[in-house]
Amino acid sequence: MDISIVIPLYNEAESLPELEAWIQRVMKENDFSYEILFINDGSTDNSWEVIEELARNNPNVRGVSFRRNYGKSPALNTGFARANGDVVITMDADLQDSPDEIPELYKMITSDGYDLVSGWKQKRYDPLSKTIPTKLFNATARKVSGIRNLHDFNCGLKAYRNKVVKRIEIYGDMHRYIPYLAKNAGFTRIGEKVVHHQARKYGKTKFGLDRFVNGYLDLITLWFTSKFGGKPMHFFGLLGSLMFFVGLIAVMIVGFGKLWNMHNGGQYHLVTDSPYFYLALTTMILGTQLFLTGFIGELIARNSIRRNDYEIETEIEAHE
Ligand code: UDP
Ligand code: MG
Repeated sequence: MDISIVIPLYNEAESLPELEAWIQRVMKENDFSYEILFINDGSTDNSWEVIEELARNNPNVRGVSFRRNYGKSPALNTGFARANGDVVITMDADLQDSPDEIPELYKMITSDGYDLVSGWKQKRYDPLSKTIPTKLFNATARKVSGIRNLHDFNCGLKAYRNKVVKRIEIYGDMHRYIPYLAKNAGFTRIGEKVVHHQARKYGKTKFGLDRFVNGYLDLITLWFTSKFGGKPMHFFGLLGSLMFFVGLIAVMIVGFGKLWNMHNGGQYHLVTDSPYFYLALTTMILGTQLFLTGFIGELIARNSIRRNDYEIETEIEAHE
């Protein structure tokens, strides 16, 4: 099968028939063999009935329905597990992404050798309250992830080589950083294509401004786990040791300073009279705790079932 189109949706009943007809037209025109995977993320409107109806009329339509609303990432993850196409396309259900982009995205994966191609909504039809923070979001994501050539990390319209979606795991709200996840999994041929974007036709957006706070926290998590997930001691141990030794030296300065003054007949006070003593003590305690956090982190990492899960690309066996 050429293409799997994975569509996560939450209360998008009005858009679905139009979207399905549009995709079907593009697929026919280009002679693609395809499947559409609708992932109903616990919609409370009649989206699922609409999908059942679409599936009756088009054998290429598949559907999965969650019992409750889990979020876009779990929906994508579920779709990815089921996708059979050589190229997997994701798109939003709200008609903001155009199916007309699919043939070109397909070509970029199959002929140009990209592992992942992300859409870039260069001209966006969203409110300013969203487009401005998005610029900041993307600049930060570029910096932290090291993927310099992407302008729009969170574009819903993306294309993947099948093995990419089978390898990466999207959970929580991590759909915002799929290119970063792919890069961490070793898929470095990441491209971008300018795509047409439309204003939302029906319904309303499912994400508020908290997306930016959560997005920022998730980025830190991803940065941390990709750098130190397998070896937490390298992070906590270094930080803890540094703090401990700074504290130790400070305590020694306070202590020996007093002894020196005593010995030379100068003025001296209780060490506990000096604020430096308390600062030094706190630093030593925090340093020790960071270090112990490193040990606990190592114990947890050691128990991970994925600690030796490497993706082997090719191998040469001995032969006669
Ligand atoms: N979506 C989903 N589960 C959710 C929230 C959103 O499956 O909990 C879907 C939604 O139906 C749409 C896509 O994710 O197909 C993008 O959502 P939306 O259009 O609201 O985001 P925006 O375009 O405002 O960034
Ligand atoms: Mg949208």
